[in-house]
Amino acid sequence: MKISGKTRVCGLIGDPVEHSLSPSIQNAAFDHLGLDYVYAVFPVTRNNLKRAIAGMRSLGLHGLNVTMPHKTEVARYLDELDETAKNVGSVNTILNSNGSLIGYTTDGIGALRALRHGGADPSGKKIVLLGAGGASRSLSFTLVRAAKEFVILNRTSGKAERLARDITTLLGDSAKVAAGRLTDENLEKELTDADILVNATSVGMHPNEQKTPVDRKLLRLGLVVFDLVYEPLETRLLREAAEIGAKTVNGLSMLVHQGAASFEIWTGVKAPIEVMMKAATRELAETKQ
Ligand code: NAP
Repeated sequence: MKISGKTRVCGLIGDPVEHSLSPSIQNAAFDHLGLDYVYAVFPVTRNNLKRAIAGMRSLGLHGLNVTMPHKTEVARYLDELDETAKNVGSVNTILNSNGSLIGYTTDGIGALRALRHGGADPSGKKIVLLGAGGASRSLSFTLVRAAKEFVILNRTSGKAERLARDITTLLGDSAKVAAGRLTDENLEKELTDADILVNATSVGMHPNEQKTPVDRKLLRLGLVVFDLVYEPLETRLLREAAEIGAKTVNGLSMLVHQGAASFEIWTGVKAPIEVMMKAATRELAETKQ
């Protein structure tokens, strides 16, 4: 990689960001296509967010990804928000377009593309989504438009109900959304005729790899199981789904696809998905050593 006076600088802000896979994923894509871009990480605490965005303007950084804890707060410092970011109330990508900072969210499109990449197009399907936190919210507004039926189950049922209400307020009654508590009883009822199960809770994530949000007896062949957790890459939920022959999609695929969508916003060039996927897998394996 050759850095010149014309190199466009992109990066990630958040706290913590030291273990992010994004530099490997993005730089592999820039290198592969011979684009004069570079991607770095910038640890930014809550107190420094406003100054960091002012710095983006004054230094002329071309693009940023935004992660915890800034995804909601950052919107107030930008000049414009794209429609989806506005609806979701979250920004994970900023483009510096001739001095004007535009906020986007690529989590939803990342989830959609990850499902399609895994051979599971959600169009016209019944989706059962577990969780009502930040990740769940970011992908709900995209997946619900494709789905025939959308059910949100969360440990704190009030949060699931609020998310369902927000979706209905935005999309009207055409969005077939229901919400409830994440219990075995509700899972059993909703999974009987579901096509896609999405885990957007943190259950099963390192260091709690032995946990699963869904008892294996509730899984069945024909159900696509998509787990957003990517540490470990194969969660207990995905392993048990694969054991009964169900199709699985892992969280790394979503991470790469949402990064690819950011890459496309910054460069206007189609992202080299397989190159990015390989870089992500390699980096994840190396960080575990
Ligand atoms: P968050 O805002 O903190 O939400 C956490 C969610 O998990 C909430 O719905 C919470 O339920 C639920 N939860 C936590 N512990 C639980 C338990 N013991 N039993 C049942 N539910 C539990 O986090 P987030 O940002 O949405 O992230 C959620 C997961 O998605 C994380 O593992 C994260 O790494 C992953 N993620 C992956 C990607 C990707 O690109 N693959 C992107 C974003 C996030 P309550 O509301 O009841 O607390």
